Amino acid sequence: MSSRTRKLSVRDDDLLDQSSSEEARTTQQEQQPQPPPVNNDQDQDEDYLRKTELTMYFLVQEPTKENPDQEPPRQEQPQQKAQAVTAPGQRRARKKPTNLPGHGKSATVEPPFPWATDRRAQVHSMKYLLDKGIKTISGDGECKRCQKVFQIEYNLEEKFSEIAEYVAKNKFDLCDRAPKVWTNPVLPKCNFCNQDNCVKPVINKKKSINWLFLLLGQMLGCCTLGQLKYFCKHTGNHRTGAKDRVLFLTYLGLCKQVNPDGPFDLRE
Ligand SMILES: [Zn+2]
Repeated sequence: MSSRTRKLSVRDDDLLDQSSSEEARTTQQEQQPQPPPVNNDQDQDEDYLRKTELTMYFLVQEPTKENPDQEPPRQEQPQQKAQAVTAPGQRRARKKPTNLPGHGKSATVEPPFPWATDRRAQVHSMKYLLDKGIKTISGDGECKRCQKVFQIEYNLEEKFSEIAEYVAKNKFDLCDRAPKVWTNPVLPKCNFCNQDNCVKPVINKKKSINWLFLLLGQMLGCCTLGQLKYFCKHTGNHRTGAKDRVLFLTYLGLCKQVNPDGPFDLRE
């Protein structure tokens, strides 16, 4: 069927060449010229419209932006300036009193442990603790091998006397620098997997660091430099420097807190 129709169509084309061609031309003219030019015209018109619209938007938006910006700023600028003047003043007013006492934002904090005072980075003296019946200092440790977290306990008098003796003997030889025993502390043995030198102390946020526990375990070296600086800052030593120096100051500072009458002052 399609072949016959094609043949017929060919004959029709041969016979009706002019009419068909004219019709075709007319249809083509009607179809081709109309859509393309119409489309082109539309596209061009649209393009023109878009361009003009865009330009119009810019022209319209710019003045609308400038106008509100120009008008309100005259009213807002003084307000912003007034706020800018008052804001730093308030901030400075808040910061200055906090820095002046040297004990943090608030003078007192909630004691994070029974052996800690309400002052940041300040622990009670041994005399106070023994009077209160506190003989054991505990803290949390986490095994680096099996990840178990468990409590470690130290006898206050026993552990502190070891450290105090060491400091008394070696304070001047250390030249204000922490020895390797302090910078690279030997960690406790794990109670679960029995791995030696494997339990690192769990160190909380600066405000609630278990300083006395870290001192007695001689694990202050596990603190970061920032944590050690925090201790020194809040205990009157605003020194900066290498970690072994700040660590040395932290050891001496904590020892002096535990025993204010001991030989724990610098260069004494
Ligand atoms: Zn373990």
